[in-house]
Amino acid sequence: MNKINNVRALREAPAQAEPLIDLRGVQKAYKTPAGDFLALKGIDLNIDRGEFVAVQGKSGAGKSTLINMVTGIDQPTAGEICVGNRAVHEMNEVQIAKWRGSNVGVIFQFFQLLPMLTCAQNVMLPMDFANLYNSPRERRERALHLLDQVGIGEQADKLPSAVSGGQRQRVAIARALANDPSFLAADEPTGSLDSKTAEEVFQVFEKLVEGGTTILMTTHDRELASRVSRTVRISDGRIIN
Ligand code: ADP
Ligand code: MG
Repeated sequence: MNKINNVRALREAPAQAEPLIDLRGVQKAYKTPAGDFLALKGIDLNIDRGEFVAVQGKSGAGKSTLINMVTGIDQPTAGEICVGNRAVHEMNEVQIAKWRGSNVGVIFQFFQLLPMLTCAQNVMLPMDFANLYNSPRERRERALHLLDQVGIGEQADKLPSAVSGGQRQRVAIARALANDPSFLAADEPTGSLDSKTAEEVFQVFEKLVEGGTTILMTTHDRELASRVSRTVRISDGRIIN
């Protein structure tokens, strides 16, 4: 009896939080004609594996800059950014591009799909670049599986112009998942969608998080921000909560 209870206690113990993203003292200065502009003024932020974190703040607060730092789209002026056991701030541009291609899935407000490729081909593109899945056939099968997972398997062979905005964002989510990244970063992913479509796209994120995906998302939407596991407020380049 005791033994059984112990086993149960072990199983029900909360999983040990496992840090995935670690930012320390991250600063970003942009060069402007009027001199350097400090868009991030020392950001300390830890995100554990499996967390769904929303970054909230007014326009100009530094949300996109933060996403660009975490994803390696742009480099910090000072500070440290570690993802998993990799020190992103120490990599050169070639190393960052390679790392990003197979470790980070990025989703943008305006989808950024290639208009001359079908939805499935858009999802296959990161696999082609990173050379991660062997044959074109295997890549297509994986793309179709991912499109199914986000609920638009039937649109696979259409061009992005032939599907709705919400469906385009689902294609972009499938594309972000293409190389099985360690986390998804989404910059205002529902910002160009009506509220009903935004809700549907948000539910795709919720489902992914249930399956163990780590997501960092910026948003203006207070209602959506209230439904994630943690909200980080940013104002004028600083975290304020
Ligand atoms: P948010 O995404 O929260 O709206 P951003 O991160 O885009 O904010 O921008 C933060 C601040 O940095 C803003 O004041 C913006 O004008 C400035 N900024 C962003 N990108 C650049 C750039 N490339 N050059 C100069 N200033 C920039
Ligand atoms: Mg922004």
